[in-house]
Amino acid sequence: MSSSIELTGYSQLELAAFVQSLGEPVYRGRQIFVGLQQRRLRSFDEMTDLPKELRARLNEKARASTLTIESRYVSEDGTRRYLMKTHDNLPVETVFIPEERRDTICFSSQSGCPLQCTFCLTAQLGLLRSLTSGEIVEQIVIALNDAYGVGVKPPRGTNLVGMGAGEPFLNLDSLMKALRVMADPHGLFIVPNRVTVSTAGVVPRILDLAKMPDRPHLAISLAAPTDDLRDELMPINKRWALEELLSACKEFEKTLKPGERFTFEYVMLAGVNDSEQQARQLANLLNRHELKAKVNLIPHNPADPLPYQPSPEETVEQFRNILESKGIHTYVRRPRGRDIFAACGQLAARHETRPSLIQPKSIGA
Ligand code: SF4
Repeated sequence: MSSSIELTGYSQLELAAFVQSLGEPVYRGRQIFVGLQQRRLRSFDEMTDLPKELRARLNEKARASTLTIESRYVSEDGTRRYLMKTHDNLPVETVFIPEERRDTICFSSQSGCPLQCTFCLTAQLGLLRSLTSGEIVEQIVIALNDAYGVGVKPPRGTNLVGMGAGEPFLNLDSLMKALRVMADPHGLFIVPNRVTVSTAGVVPRILDLAKMPDRPHLAISLAAPTDDLRDELMPINKRWALEELLSACKEFEKTLKPGERFTFEYVMLAGVNDSEQQARQLANLLNRHELKAKVNLIPHNPADPLPYQPSPEETVEQFRNILESKGIHTYVRRPRGRDIFAACGQLAARHETRPSLIQPKSIGA
């Protein structure tokens, strides 16, 4: 790589300063921004509205893209999953999920993850490194270009969820920078209201997020109704236990806009966290804190190295009914892209730890 300056994560203002440092007029910065974000171009050579000489200098000094697609899989249900590589050869996973009225792109905030959730394959990679704002934006650019063609306006709205590999709140600065760049009306124009970021429970950052204007929606991965079980499933609980986490959620709740709610994600693991008693414990926990949150029950995607199986459908339904009967709005997430391992960390971890397990339907990079 000729330079480490990646312009995909730059705001219009930063690009203006960058082109000025090259002795160019400010409007060139705006042209580059529109080229990278709105036209979703991934090389300066494609920006034919720039003088040839400037394109050559940009190629010397900076990069318009850094991620490459290592593999791409398309599920029978239309879900597309990408395993990308950074310039230093680290895995990045992104999933594109088409739905009737909108598309959802699930992006990663880190390569690997330092947290050790026992139901997650990404955990087995450990933290490889946090992604830059440019690498976060690029995932969206690549997924949209692949689904619709380079620069073609998506026919539906695009929602983003920060639920791919990594703990977003351990990379909050880069994440927020990427979200600000993507919200620009002259670029991708995906506003924070269309973005949900999920945390395993980094309490101080939940409180920081609450104070930010133009913040995304918040989701918390709970996975257990008691500290004993959560300590086991999500060791971050030993640092910030449930009482502390839910008190932070209560603080966050005070900053919600009218009609806005935050979400608790609850992965359903057969015989581990899905009993009727645990449903009642969860309802009581949320009600005791008077949280107006909703709960998403997530089907677990089984994978060989993980010691868990998904809860049967009837068990999930029963769990949902108990929560609902205690006044908790509860939704059951449909599994998407199961045939291509479209769950958190599944592709990269399979690649890194067990190459022989890769059998999804590949249609090439
Ligand atoms: S579930 Fe999320 S936070 Fe936990 S190890 Fe996996 S990627 Fe990290």
